[in-house]
Amino acid sequence: MEHNENFNSASCENLDEETLFMVSQTFKALSDPTRIRILYLLSQKECAVSEIAEALGLLQSTVSHQLRFLKNLRLVKFRRAGTMLYYSHDDEHVMDLLRQAIHHACHD
Ligand SMILES: [Zn+2]
Repeated sequence: MEHNENFNSASCENLDEETLFMVSQTFKALSDPTRIRILYLLSQKECAVSEIAEALGLLQSTVSHQLRFLKNLRLVKFRRAGTMLYYSHDDEHVMDLLRQAIHHACHD
């Protein structure tokens, strides 16, 4: 069992159905270029929907649709200020995954 030592520190390493589903959903979230751009922007700063749309050249309806997807997976959160919703990222693990994947895409 020694070779498994590094995996035993976390409590959910038996890869049951629920864990497998969540892991595959996580990679699904990161498998879409638009979602990647939104998450990367939110890794840098909190943004209103309109700011995201403008920064990325997307329709607000497209941004809202993707934010709902990401919110369901608890990868983003929002706070309300008047009629405005401000979104930010909500999970450091997935932000780390995203940064690692970006570095992987860019290194030699
Ligand atoms: Zn690499």
